[in-house]
Amino acid sequence: MTFRIESVRARLTIFYVLVLAVVLLVVGGLIHVMLARVLYARIDDGLVDLVQIATTSLDNDLAEGQDIVDAARSTATELASQQQMLAIYTTDGRLLAESARDGDLEIALPPVATVPSTSTQLTTVTERRDRGDRHRLAMRMVTLPTHAVTYLVVAGTSLEPTDEELEAVRETLAYVVPIALLLAGLGGWFLAHRSLAPVVAMAERARRIGGENLSGRLPVANPKDELGRLAGTFNELLERLEFAMSQQRQFMADASHELRTPITTTRTAANVALQQRHRNEDEYRHALEVIEQQATRLSRMVDDLFTLARADAGTYPVSRQPMYLDEIVEEVVAGARIVASTRQVRVEHFGVASASFLGDEELIRRMVTNLLDNAVRHSPTGARVTVELRAAGGRHAIVVADQGPGIPVENQPHIFERFYRVDPSSSRARDEGAGLGLALVRWVAHLHGGAVTLTNSSNAGSTFTVELPLNG
Ligand code: ADP
Repeated sequence: MTFRIESVRARLTIFYVLVLAVVLLVVGGLIHVMLARVLYARIDDGLVDLVQIATTSLDNDLAEGQDIVDAARSTATELASQQQMLAIYTTDGRLLAESARDGDLEIALPPVATVPSTSTQLTTVTERRDRGDRHRLAMRMVTLPTHAVTYLVVAGTSLEPTDEELEAVRETLAYVVPIALLLAGLGGWFLAHRSLAPVVAMAERARRIGGENLSGRLPVANPKDELGRLAGTFNELLERLEFAMSQQRQFMADASHELRTPITTTRTAANVALQQRHRNEDEYRHALEVIEQQATRLSRMVDDLFTLARADAGTYPVSRQPMYLDEIVEEVVAGARIVASTRQVRVEHFGVASASFLGDEELIRRMVTNLLDNAVRHSPTGARVTVELRAAGGRHAIVVADQGPGIPVENQPHIFERFYRVDPSSSRARDEGAGLGLALVRWVAHLHGGAVTLTNSSNAGSTFTVELPLNG
């Protein structure tokens, strides 16, 4: 079964406390082990020294002519201290002398035969009676060279004071560790609470930011720390969303506005035609022509709107395929000539052949059509429109030039914007598009890695150039 703690604050706190607990236990354990080792080693050194000194003293006393029992007694009494006792035995385990002990201490000696004669043997024994206090003994079989006799010298001390000291250390650790953990837990909880407070505030504020109200921003306490950067990034996202939403609203508003004109014109034409019971054929024909014109304009607008909306959403199904730009230009020119001839405008076309290109044929065709359409529409009667296809500087260039009135300098920077028209109130505006044609041209050019520019515009005419990469 997995157990999950939902609160980040609780998880952080538990993590601190666990890490600290491990650290304290390891450090405490190490201190205890080191301390015990040092203290016990010091005791052992003292006992080994005592055995050594006792041996020398015994030897000296015997050399001075004392008998073994006296020598043993005087050595035991002289060398014993409050902490250390001394006893001297014969090799068959008979006690010759021992220093005074506290009370009736009975210590079990190991079998004498097991005591080595060369070195001092150290052993820990537990007192038989009492509460089982531990003692440390140092024993050595001593052969006195001058007298060729062997005795067992035993030095001992109680381990009780040292055991108690270590016990006190353990008890202290047993208090200190939980208190330290408790304090660390409280501190960690408080710290986590403080650190996470901005996140809680951000979540609260983010909840209040909705689709209708994207103007709110998250509070940024310290823009340099991680949370500040998160809030900053989130605010940038909101900024972009707000911008996109406002663009979309503007798009909708402009689109509805633009669609209204052809619909109103269509309705008016139909109403006027229907107002009188009888009309002659010419009048009906005229009304139907107006309706047909406006329906065409409307369908072009809807097409452009739909294409641009899908382009924005990134859902336009672009299908790239190999094609020849010269063929497309030729086809579009042929179509444009039909409209142009009604205004006595000549459309001429020249340039390179076999200009292979990889792109969306339908979009490229619409791009060229829009440029040519504009050129023809803005041309005066009898003027000339040229379309040239070049391959220069590692790029294809489609250059559409007309002899129209040109575009005023102040309008030039805006003509590629959506719904932008140079003179929306002019009488001709009724027949024009919704200001989407050049926006679409620009999008198609960008989509194919190219660009469109108004390379020249004066009262002698305008020239638009589309550059596309040579990728075919
Ligand atoms: P629309 O689809 O309404 O024609 P466009 O985006 O194609 O809109 O053009 C934007 C504006 O630029 C229009 O108002 C139009 O008057 C002007 N324009 C475009 N092409 C030419 C041109 N060749 N000569 C003069 N004006 C032009």
